[in-house]
Amino acid sequence: MIASVIVDVPAKQIDRTFDYKVPEALTSVVQRGIRVIVPFGPRKIQGFILSLKEESSVKKLKSIEEVVDIEPVLNEELMSLSEWLTDQTLCYRISALQVMLPAAMKAKYNKFFHLIEEKQHLPSHIKELFEKESPLTWKTADAHHVLKDLQELIRHRKVEMKYVVKQSANVKKARFVELADEKLMNEIPGNAKKQQLVSDHLLKNARKMAVTDLKEATGATSAVIKTMIDKGYLIESFNELYRDPFQERTFEKTEHFKLTDDQKTAIAPILEKVNSYEQQTFLLHGVTGSGKTEIYLQTIDQVLKQKRQAIMLVPEISLTPQMVQRFKGRFGDQVAVMHSGLSVGEKYDEWRKIHRGEVNVVVGARSAIFAPFKKLGVIIIDEEHETSYKQEDSPRYHARDVAIERSNRHGCPVILGSATPSLESFARAKKGNYQLLELEYRMNQQDLPEVKIIDMREELREGNRSMFSRDLLEEIEKRIEKKEQIVLFLNRRGYSSFIMCRDCGTVMQCPHCEVSLTYHRSKESMKCHYCGHEEHVPEKCPECESEHIRYFGTGTQKVEEELFKLMPHVKTIRMDVDTTSKKGSHEKLLSAFDRGEADVLLGTQMIAKGLDFPNITLVGVLSADTMLHLPDFRASEKTFQLLTQVSGRAGRHDKPGEVIIQTYTPEHFSIELAKTQNYEWFYQKEMMMRKTAQYPPFYYISLITLSHENVNKAAGVCNEIADILKSRLSDQSIILGPVASPIARIQDKYRYQCIIKYKHEPELKTLLKKILDQYSDTGKDAVTIHIDVQPYIMM
Ligand code: ADP
Ligand code: ZN
Ligand code: ZN
Repeated sequence: MIASVIVDVPAKQIDRTFDYKVPEALTSVVQRGIRVIVPFGPRKIQGFILSLKEESSVKKLKSIEEVVDIEPVLNEELMSLSEWLTDQTLCYRISALQVMLPAAMKAKYNKFFHLIEEKQHLPSHIKELFEKESPLTWKTADAHHVLKDLQELIRHRKVEMKYVVKQSANVKKARFVELADEKLMNEIPGNAKKQQLVSDHLLKNARKMAVTDLKEATGATSAVIKTMIDKGYLIESFNELYRDPFQERTFEKTEHFKLTDDQKTAIAPILEKVNSYEQQTFLLHGVTGSGKTEIYLQTIDQVLKQKRQAIMLVPEISLTPQMVQRFKGRFGDQVAVMHSGLSVGEKYDEWRKIHRGEVNVVVGARSAIFAPFKKLGVIIIDEEHETSYKQEDSPRYHARDVAIERSNRHGCPVILGSATPSLESFARAKKGNYQLLELEYRMNQQDLPEVKIIDMREELREGNRSMFSRDLLEEIEKRIEKKEQIVLFLNRRGYSSFIMCRDCGTVMQCPHCEVSLTYHRSKESMKCHYCGHEEHVPEKCPECESEHIRYFGTGTQKVEEELFKLMPHVKTIRMDVDTTSKKGSHEKLLSAFDRGEADVLLGTQMIAKGLDFPNITLVGVLSADTMLHLPDFRASEKTFQLLTQVSGRAGRHDKPGEVIIQTYTPEHFSIELAKTQNYEWFYQKEMMMRKTAQYPPFYYISLITLSHENVNKAAGVCNEIADILKSRLSDQSIILGPVASPIARIQDKYRYQCIIKYKHEPELKTLLKKILDQYSDTGKDAVTIHIDVQPYIMM
């Protein structure tokens, strides 16, 4: 038997399968979709079996060394989905497989050592290491310590070097006990109170429990439990234990709401497709608070009744405790949660619950779209316009496309939900490719909050140089008197504080990238957000030696300081990358705000969504324009979406809300229209602009980026590629470039790009594949090429 294996290393030259013999002993366990260890050059590495066959055209075949899995980690559907993904995004096949699995299953290759000679010949420090534990569990540091000596031994063939496949997270095991025969329990002497307690607890609850949990629940000591084991009352075992990210929390059970007539009208066609096992993409358009989530919940309920499963995607930043509460509250233990805040081990465990069919719903960020469910009944993408659904690294996929592809394979509907759908989706709904469902009113019958636009130029003319307009300050004061709460929102992108010399105007830049460094107050340092370079704030300007060097821009810290200066009695909670980097801090800050420990919640994007606190009656947007001026054809769309989103945070419950938007360009249509939150008008207007400028959804775009340390080389290759494109594509297509990328240098590499705009180019993908092949040389001095077939961020 021969296995075709793809090895777990993304690289151009090995972007294909290799044949291996299957040793006799392994023939019964090998199958498509399992991981194996194979010899590869001088190394042993991990790979996936893609197929099995009788013969190979290769003469001298090596053999598979070991199998890692007993059953496939990727089922048939996901295996073939990976083919589709490879083709769609032009990625390596192995990258398409890797993206579907939790990071914990990606092997880290370390060398490890296998003993073949008598241990007696070994120096004692190495012998010790071998005796301590199996080389498989050696810590890299330990191995490193003796590496030199070991290499010597390897040369003399006393020790053989072998592979190490080190999983970054292993299955967690724990000591469990369970009740032996119940009759035995009656033998426990009446005065052994603790033992009695333990047995009662086990009888009443799960008969089998992790010892740590049991000790905590009953107060029994290790000695008590040991005695009970010794006497045969308890049986001891070591079992897998899931790491539960929500261990500390209980979720109150919640019931379905009786749907309103509007909700009923919207859910009916969805349920119809659920019941008939048919694919259909729905676009559920409704303002925040219009009851979309309740529709998702009740659709999922129907899917579960059919013994099928559901994927619910939400943007990373809105995976708040409140969101999780709604799903866990409704569906309890059936729900797995997947997001980047979990540890590698926790993610692995959540994935295994799905893989083993122990849960039927996953609520997660982008990558949860690959959840290995076998019978999908619905896929939901909430806030479908969010850019975080597009992965920026290879494979550069959009979760929406994957959702539709999977739903075709499973025969189930997809629901895209949003108050401000992406232009692409709304256009498809208008054309009838998606079915449009509308929810027009907020559940609480509250009108949308009143939105006031403040012209900051006017403020300046009146002599107000602060970042707070007089209106905003006045309104904040009013809320504080009424003991109501305020959210202040600052756009993070393009809005961090930078360091500038006041005398010569020099802005501190990253030495490796064409971007200014961001000031971090807590460490008095400046950091590059592209490459991570960090340095202390200089005391003198490196150009003119002036000491008048200070930070500019309006970072959250600066806003906090200014607010404190203006209104020292106001209590503020600040939420940004700095205050939420620790695990769980996000949740802590929010619940403190919920308990009323602060008047103002000040933050970035992070606070724009998901928040649902009854006491928030004022939302202030400090500067609405920051995003408008980014080099991005979606700038207006993103601004409108964000302003609408943020405004939705006010007055979600009984108290009416108000929104104040400060701006330097009040006449811009995306700001004007955010006032009335009229999506339809915005859509019409923006579609006209896109049509004129020849952008999506009228044209498709693809982006090719070349980077190299030598600027001429990057530009030169880019030029060559532009020429190829121009000669091969039709006259209807537009090729922009070569031009320097908006961020012209990252990590010392200059970046050039070509943008292709096209309506219909059936041969484009083949051509791009060829270009990729021709130019992705891996030599030391080679230019790096990236192709993004449908880019979201045009850097
Ligand atoms: P959206 O997802 O559009 O923001 P939600 O589903 O969160 O809207 O609904 C807004 C609020 O109204 C929530 O507090 C929710 O619990 C409540 N709600 C939703 N549907 C109903 C209903 N049919 N009856 C009563 N309350 C409802
Ligand atoms: Zn200077
Ligand atoms: Zn940098």
